Amino acid sequence: MCPSRGWSPTSRFPKKIYPRFSRDSMGQHSDPRKGHNGNQLETEANADLSPELGMIFNEQDQDVRDVGYQKHAFNLLISNRLGYHRDVPDTRDSKCAKKTYPPDLPMASIVICFYNEAFSALLRTVHSVLDRTPAQLLHEIILVDDNSELDDLKKDLDGYMQENLSKKVKLVRNKQREGLIRGRMVGASHATGDVLVFLDSHCEVNEMWLQPLLAPIKENPRTVVCPVIDIISADTLIYSSSPVVRGGFNWGLHFKWDPVPLAELGGPEGFSAPFRSPTMAGGLFAMDREYFNMLGQYDSGMDIWGGENLEISFRIWMCGGSLLIVPCSRVGHIFRKRRPYGSPGGHDTMAHNSLRLAHVWMDEYKDQYFALRPELRNRDFGDIRERLALRRRLNCKSFKWYLDNIYPEMQVSGPNAKPQPPVFMNKGQKRPKILQRGRLINMQTNRCLVAQGHPSQKGGLVVAKECDYNDSEQVWSYNEEHELILSNLLCLDMSETRSSDPPRLMKCHGSGGSQQWVFGKSNRLYQVSVGQCLKLVDPMSRKGYVSMAICDGSPSQQWHLEN
Ligand code: UDP
Ligand code: MN
Repeated sequence: MCPSRGWSPTSRFPKKIYPRFSRDSMGQHSDPRKGHNGNQLETEANADLSPELGMIFNEQDQDVRDVGYQKHAFNLLISNRLGYHRDVPDTRDSKCAKKTYPPDLPMASIVICFYNEAFSALLRTVHSVLDRTPAQLLHEIILVDDNSELDDLKKDLDGYMQENLSKKVKLVRNKQREGLIRGRMVGASHATGDVLVFLDSHCEVNEMWLQPLLAPIKENPRTVVCPVIDIISADTLIYSSSPVVRGGFNWGLHFKWDPVPLAELGGPEGFSAPFRSPTMAGGLFAMDREYFNMLGQYDSGMDIWGGENLEISFRIWMCGGSLLIVPCSRVGHIFRKRRPYGSPGGHDTMAHNSLRLAHVWMDEYKDQYFALRPELRNRDFGDIRERLALRRRLNCKSFKWYLDNIYPEMQVSGPNAKPQPPVFMNKGQKRPKILQRGRLINMQTNRCLVAQGHPSQKGGLVVAKECDYNDSEQVWSYNEEHELILSNLLCLDMSETRSSDPPRLMKCHGSGGSQQWVFGKSNRLYQVSVGQCLKLVDPMSRKGYVSMAICDGSPSQQWHLEN
């Protein structure tokens, strides 16, 4: 993911900035809707202060927090206390600030569809756009209420909009729950700006986020662009930088992050130039409005959530467009551990939607999906004739073309397999250079990450135990391929298919992904393919089990490779 030569694991990252309350606003629960400056927000480069934001002072706080987790799956207490305006750390590469953009960029219609969103998170999304977008580029913000059931999203929201928001912010309400896919189509149908920008309802846009998205679209309206999605922790609401990765998928039709191949980052601008991505994550992207309509919007037969991001990604590439990630545009998104809502009929909408996209776009390769999901082979997926007609009308290329040209990294097995060149990774003379060697210490407990059994045992677990400085089997090497190798034997590996499994020691395969680890800021140890951080499960337990978790910078997620 970060293949430049002189790479050092931590130097890339700017100092982390934590939001915090000023002293005098602590202790009283002030309603952020009462005004923008009710809670004085300071920024402070000090990790110790961040927990204060979530401090519980009374039963009411406790309640807000508990109910918040139930309804929204993130820390509502912190979200409310943050209010509707806050500074976020500028996570862009230093080259980005020096770039200039044409003055006559197209105007954007921002479409934000929400269902039962937390009032404070929704308003922070809206205000972050208003605060950090030049007025001449902002045509409108269209909020689509997907028939939410929360009271404050009705009268209170109307009132707030009337009192505090300009006419540029519009609200459309769905009469019935449509799901995010048809919901976004509703929003797009009301839009009149040149470019559509879709955002989730719990985002915060960063400095100069829009110009770098609009510029490539102005140059070529068939270019669809995504910002880098920075991480807003669901538990702390801390905003932190995301590594620059690109979108892929697996044969279960789940989106995944992949390292960016070196060849894609070749230009003189290096990490700051837009690069091609086989798929998009879905929540945040910008697209010329006419092109969105011409390309068939979304598949309106898809329900509630899931699959639409791969569908539109395949469609863009196969039908003559291109999909880029723009590293100089950064937008934070609250990543949740679960989605706090179901679908009205309790259906598995991800499977329904994936079936539709497989039957419309994947040709013979849909068998790869059915090999993993045989129970779906004969499942009904509704009428797809219109989508098939669209594919013919747009004269789209085959899925094989897409795999060969846009995602050659994808492995195909069975009858569609292409012959793979033999891989002699790690066998020849060219072993990756070792950057650092030492003990991998959990900073919360000062314990060392070691093999649970013997370090030569394939598939063995790793655990955090008392360090033994006489034991050479506790020594890890970290190399330029971002592999962590214990005792010169096996690589720390995270299964890409089951992120709920703990990491294990596996033979080093040299092809990145599941064996790529990055030491990031806050001493986190980030696993590229699952997009999560290594965490000590229970610091009090002597068993020392570790697992992968959403990166939140907490002490149990802090690791240090000690020379
Ligand atoms: N959403 C919606 N209707 C639904 C489900 C979701 O409008 O039936 C909205 C939701 O409020 C959010 C966006 O769609 O703004 C994406 O949903 P979510 O954030 O839950 O998806 P994730 O980010 O987990 O993929
Ligand atoms: Mn979301």
